[in-house]
Amino acid sequence: MSLTLHVDSARWRGHLDSVAEAYPRLVPVVKGTGYGFGHALLAAEAGRLGVETLAVGTYEELAAVRDKFTGDLLVLTPIRPFDQVPDDPRVISTVSRVADLRSLAEGPGRPRVVVELLTSMRRHGVPADELADVVKLLEGVRCEGFALHLPLPSAGRHGPEVTGWVERLNDTGVAYDRLFVSHVTAEELGTLAAAHPGLEIRSRIGTRLWLADREAYTARAHVLDVHPVGKSDRFGYRQRRVPGAGHLVVASGGTAHGIALEAPSHVADLRTRARVLAASGLEATGRALSPYTVAGKRRWFAEPPHMQVSVLFLPTSVRPPEVGTELPVNVGMAITKFDRVVLG
Ligand SMILES: *Cc1c(COP(=O)(O)O)cnc(C)c1O
Repeated sequence: MSLTLHVDSARWRGHLDSVAEAYPRLVPVVKGTGYGFGHALLAAEAGRLGVETLAVGTYEELAAVRDKFTGDLLVLTPIRPFDQVPDDPRVISTVSRVADLRSLAEGPGRPRVVVELLTSMRRHGVPADELADVVKLLEGVRCEGFALHLPLPSAGRHGPEVTGWVERLNDTGVAYDRLFVSHVTAEELGTLAAAHPGLEIRSRIGTRLWLADREAYTARAHVLDVHPVGKSDRFGYRQRRVPGAGHLVVASGGTAHGIALEAPSHVADLRTRARVLAASGLEATGRALSPYTVAGKRRWFAEPPHMQVSVLFLPTSVRPPEVGTELPVNVGMAITKFDRVVLG
C-alpha cells in the first residue's frame, strides 16, 4: 500500500538539464522532505548533472546525501555553537555571525566556510557594519565565498541589492572571487555576471530545479478498500454516521505522509482557514475536502485522516474505484513524505 510519487524521468531530467544550462555552476539544494523526491535520489541527480557542489539545509542532512554525491557539500543553515560539525574536508559551513566566525578561525585547522551577508530577507547574515570584523578573521578559515539569500523573484528585482553588497565587499579590499545567491533569475544572473566579470556567481536552487515542471511528476494513492454504506450507517473509531448512502473509500496516505484536513480553499489566508475549519465543525465532523480525486473531482473526507490511511466518502451517484487502482492526490511537495518514488 502506498502513496507514490510517479516521475516521468525523461521529461524531468530534460527539465533539470535545462535549468542547469540556464544557471552556470548551479548549486542544487536538497533539504526537508527532499522536495518530495527524497535526499538520496536528488543527490544522485545532482551527480548526474555534474555539479561541483550540493547544498543541504542542516548538518543532520549530510548523512543522507554523502554516499550519493561525491562533490562538495554546503550546509545552508548558518553554523551555531551547538552544531555537531563533522570533520569532513568536503563539508562547507555557512557562517552568519562574527562570533561564530571567530570561534572557527581560532579553532583547529582552517575550516571551509561561506560567509552569509544580511539581505532584505532579514533571516541570517552579517550586517554591513560588521563586514570589517569579518575580513580580519578570514585568515583563520578557508573562505569559499560570500552568500546572499534573497526574497523570491516575485518580490522584486535583486540586481541593486547584489550590486550594493559587491561594492561593499570591494571597498573592504577583501580578496574573493565567488558569490552564492538564492532566488536570482537567470536573466538577472546574466546581467550581474556581465557587470562583475571577475566574480563567479553561483545560484543555489531547489524548487525551481526539482519542482518547476509540474507535468513531470504526479502523486497517486492506492485504493485499499471500498465499502458500500447506507444512509444512517456508522463507521470508524468514533462511530460517526456516514454523510449519506454511497461508499467509503479507504486510500493510502495519512497524517504521517503530510495529508491533512483543509478548509475550503476560497477562504484565503491560513489563519482564517484554520478558524473556519474549527468554527464550522468541519474538523469535528470530518466534512473537509480531501486532496484525493475520484472520477475527476476532489472528494470529501469521511473523517479526518489517520496515520497512514484516509477515508473518503462517495455518494451513490459516483461509481467507486476498484481496490488496487491509484487516485490522483493533490499534495504539497515540501510537506509530503512518499512511501515510494517510481521513475517511469
Ligand atoms: C532553501 C534554500 C534555498 C533553495 O530554496 P528554493 O526556493 O527551494 O529554491 C536557497 N538558499 C537558501 C539559503 C535556502 O535556505
